[in-house]
Amino acid sequence: MTFDLLIRGGTVVDGTGAEGFAGDVGIVGDRIHAIGDLSAADFRDVIDATGLIVAPGFVDVHNHASGEMEGGILNIPSVENQVRQGVTTLISGNCGGSPWPIGEHLDAVDALPIRQNYGLLVGMGTIRAEVEVDAEPASPEEVARMQELAARAMAEGAFGMSTGYFPDFVTTDEIAQVARPIAEAGGVYATHMRDESERLLDALREAIAIGERSGCPVQISHIKCWGTRAWGLADQALALIDDARDRGLDIAADRYPYVASFSGVAYIVPLDARIDAATRGGIEHLRDDDLAERVRAGVEDFVEVLDGADNIVFAPLEPMPEIDGKSLAQVAEERGEEPWRVALELTIEGSVSCIYFSMREENVRAFMRHPAVFAGSDGHLRVLGRGVSHPRNYGTFPRWIGHYGRDEGLFGVEEVVRKCAFMPARKFGLHDRGELAQRKIADLAIFSWEDIIDTATFDDPHHYPEGIPHVIVAGVPAVRDGEATDETPGRVVRLSR
Ligand SMILES: [Zn+2]
Repeated sequence: MTFDLLIRGGTVVDGTGAEGFAGDVGIVGDRIHAIGDLSAADFRDVIDATGLIVAPGFVDVHNHASGEMEGGILNIPSVENQVRQGVTTLISGNCGGSPWPIGEHLDAVDALPIRQNYGLLVGMGTIRAEVEVDAEPASPEEVARMQELAARAMAEGAFGMSTGYFPDFVTTDEIAQVARPIAEAGGVYATHMRDESERLLDALREAIAIGERSGCPVQISHIKCWGTRAWGLADQALALIDDARDRGLDIAADRYPYVASFSGVAYIVPLDARIDAATRGGIEHLRDDDLAERVRAGVEDFVEVLDGADNIVFAPLEPMPEIDGKSLAQVAEERGEEPWRVALELTIEGSVSCIYFSMREENVRAFMRHPAVFAGSDGHLRVLGRGVSHPRNYGTFPRWIGHYGRDEGLFGVEEVVRKCAFMPARKFGLHDRGELAQRKIADLAIFSWEDIIDTATFDDPHHYPEGIPHVIVAGVPAVRDGEATDETPGRVVRLSR
């Protein structure tokens, strides 16, 4: 036997949680052909993994690679910020928004040079917009039409459906009904819950109910206790998940290893006020007296929940030096305006995002440690050095492993690799990935347990991590000796049952 690529002399950590062992990995074409002592084998190419961990490539099921202006895969297909972390598969289309039609988008991406594999969820917000449902509960006919589109998305290769940012008029019942064809096609229901703050537990109960009524496995996206009023709820949230699992529901959650989130500035402004402004003809109607009063009350409450306007830091998508990197408190003071007025005007201006320091470290750890929680970045694609960024775009997986696993002692290498590769792959139906075994696809992350670490920070977010010298995608080195290669071996992946 001659291997196309032999990974020699490393410690194989196969992803299942089983103890690592000294062994070689022999690859033929895009598949793993053998694992063990292959020192006598012939090979066309070899990577020396002495002193390194040979693991399945990491699977990031929560990211926004599909969209968001210049951060979308159609515009910057071969950026390195994900693959340099050891990520070999991305599942995008999260938080309720996705490209449409799914099949057309996947075909377009398939024709591009991508470094890692790429698949999609369909966003229910996208489906709802396609059916042109008004700002009210959907009629039975509209629900039926949405079910058709959901079924079509699954037929075109989606891995499931996502929801996010839904106002109250989108009912639990409506979501459960639209999720039914997703369940029938074997997809997951991934939800950015309706509330991650003081109504976190109600939102979690709703997500569980949707799973139980529709038959969908549930994925809680970026599980968090958002803001001071939710900080005490982590244990109760995890108990709800445990209870649902005891009843037989397949429910899991993903988590990025940071205490700040990232969203548009509009997030500060109450959703119902934004909807009313749009109904009146445009977002500038937020300045109408009655709406402005609601914005004032909403923003003041928001700031209180975040324990002060210092904890909201502007990160504009286009350069805006007068606010870039400054807090809402700072900008309000410089402009001599109340924070709510600044938030209102920047919402109307658009294209301004914020980093919200909204979480407590001990909750982040409690979630990460829970047996049903695994890694997910909630990140975007980024060109190194260009534009606004959250450190999770570069550092999620090495930070799970190097900072929380090795340095903080939360996980051993076997357990953290399981949370970065095997668990997300199994949950999303990627049965050929996330595990090193014979006949699995040869997606591998080869890293140093001693050296792996994230280097991107909130102040200086554009840095690739360290300690991940080689990343193999479908048998081809996408990163070698710490540098991206000229190869773009990534493929579009579609759910197959
Ligand atoms: Zn989200």
